[in-house]
Amino acid sequence: LLSVRDLRVAFGEREVLHGVDLDVRRGERVAIVGQSGSGKSTLIAALLRLLPGAGRITGGEIRLGDDDLAHADEALMRRVRGGRIGLVPQDPSTNLNPSMRVGAQIADALRAGGLRGRSAVRQRVVELMTEAGIPEAARRADQYPHEFSGGMRQRILIAVALARQPELLIADEPTSALDVTVQRQILDHLQTLVDQHGTTLLFVTHDLGVAADRTDRVVVMLDGEIVEQGAPAAILRDPQHEYTKRLIAAAP
Ligand code: ATP
Ligand code: MG
Repeated sequence: LLSVRDLRVAFGEREVLHGVDLDVRRGERVAIVGQSGSGKSTLIAALLRLLPGAGRITGGEIRLGDDDLAHADEALMRRVRGGRIGLVPQDPSTNLNPSMRVGAQIADALRAGGLRGRSAVRQRVVELMTEAGIPEAARRADQYPHEFSGGMRQRILIAVALARQPELLIADEPTSALDVTVQRQILDHLQTLVDQHGTTLLFVTHDLGVAADRTDRVVVMLDGEIVEQGAPAAILRDPQHEYTKRLIAAAP
């Protein structure tokens, strides 16, 4: 589904991704793990061509189906972001419309994903919210984002992202702002939803334990490079790279 080849990204003169190769097959669940500053968010931003500031792609390819997103024009990228790739962003506060009821925001995403009919859309909104772990969804769909806790807003963002029926769902530390119990719960809902929908999942975390839980592959990043990848059990049992060994040793 996704094939990244020798991807290089620089902020101004400074190269921060030094030739990343990554393949994600349809239906696969892949976790990217690495310490702060290793380039995880930069990689995600490059895939969506949403690099901040002076960030730009300086080399390589990003194949999604038949398209090369590294060289795609903005019209194609808008279509990609609007449907084929869904993103659950790192910061839930900035990504919901504060003046629109959450149910209406999910409904818009459902219509963007092709669902038609007022009552069908309404029913699916409530289903998606329930599946994402929001209690009393039928009532709460009519509330505004500020009436939800941070953890619940994160779940709403998951529902919005899935409503568009993306081929690939990317979650960048969807839970970093939240406490660990809530993190686990949300990740659990995310994975259950992805299983149900058969969505391909790429998610980013700095926690190797979380990365190895219910994924097909763990990708370890360090200083702008992928230093190791493989099945979670294999990585945990027999890590090859020094950094991975340190990660495992440091895990609680
Ligand atoms: P974290 O776990 O803290 O989210 P990360 O793995 O997502 O870290 P990135 O945010 O991708 O790391 O950062 C990778 C490198 O790119 C870092 O050295 C960072 O300083 C640099 N960088 C990120 N964003 C910018 C920016 N807007 N301008 C300049 N440099 C940046
Ligand atoms: Mg990041």
